[in-house]
Amino acid sequence: MRIGIIGAGQLGQMLGIAARALGHECLFLDPSENPPASSVGEVIRAPFDDPSGLAEVAARSDVITYEFENVPVDALRELEKSIDVFPPLDALEQAQDRLLEKRLFESLDIPLPAFCPIDSVEDLERAASEIGLPLVVKTRRFGYDGKGQFVLRSIDDCDTAVEQLGGRGLIAEAWVPFDFEVSVIGVRSRDGEIAVWPLTENRHDNGILSISRAPQVDQALENQADDFVRRMLEQLDYVGVLALELFVADGQLLANEFAPRVHNSGHWTIEGAVTSQFANHILAVAGARPGATDARGYAGMRNLIGDIPAAVRQLDMPGATLHDYGKSPRAGRKLGHVTVVAESAAQRDEMLERIM
Ligand code: AMP
Repeated sequence: MRIGIIGAGQLGQMLGIAARALGHECLFLDPSENPPASSVGEVIRAPFDDPSGLAEVAARSDVITYEFENVPVDALRELEKSIDVFPPLDALEQAQDRLLEKRLFESLDIPLPAFCPIDSVEDLERAASEIGLPLVVKTRRFGYDGKGQFVLRSIDDCDTAVEQLGGRGLIAEAWVPFDFEVSVIGVRSRDGEIAVWPLTENRHDNGILSISRAPQVDQALENQADDFVRRMLEQLDYVGVLALELFVADGQLLANEFAPRVHNSGHWTIEGAVTSQFANHILAVAGARPGATDARGYAGMRNLIGDIPAAVRQLDMPGATLHDYGKSPRAGRKLGHVTVVAESAAQRDEMLERIM
């Protein structure tokens, strides 16, 4: 089967590697020169909303998926008239807008921080008095890795926050004094079969994911997160991989956001699970059943951001695997990651510490 993928970054590259192993071929659409996925398949070089580029991918593919969530939904709705597009575009639309996303969590009884849509300074002042400070003010659309956010600590800064974030189309939410962050990743097939990977604990530095560890061994949290992601997959009549990110505060889960795609916090599944998130996404969109999502021991992942140090390239550590996306170095850019698999949580943590 030929799978058309919108976006050819590292997620596309890892989807392409998984697709090859499963006997499929990928055709990508991406505007950038020489993107990571060009090492695993042909890339049609055009903007994500370019009608002729999209038409070409659709004409030459058997099914379409995406690896990047800021794809224009309207452009994909056009394609959907002639070819299956997974995950469903209603899921993409809700993931692109933090207000719709939070309303989805509410409708599914998934707990989340108190929030309020903001379109003016007055709205924010009202939110501050109703919810209390600090508040995290975010743009509803196009925020990622902590960009497009303002932590409001004083009522006097309402003007600055609203102005800095563009004046309207914002959301304010209660600042959560979380103990740690987790994500739960699930997959649903075209026939409705669901599989969920073990809960993953995530650590961010400067808003960017730095380390993931799985399984996170609190069984009660894991069961709850598993239930939440299943509710989402069912409600959205979902096909493919979905990642739900949550805060853990006082032993309770609070939903932060979801991604309708494979996710950085699931990279450990490449070596650390029986079936990786990339393989299962390809299986799902291609119409097959999901493979087992059990962890193989204790797994972890460290992102390599800005550069890949020589010591990491020469890493002599059984159980550690370097994934280099082949991107040119730049501050803040995700260039690769290292996956580790160990026999104990302590050994896994020690291995992650040694990779700097
Ligand atoms: P986001 O883009 O919403 O995933 O936010 C990026 C990071 O900012 C999260 O992973 C958290 O570390 C932090 N953050 C976002 N929202 C909140 C919140 N309401 N309370 C505390 N920290 C937050």
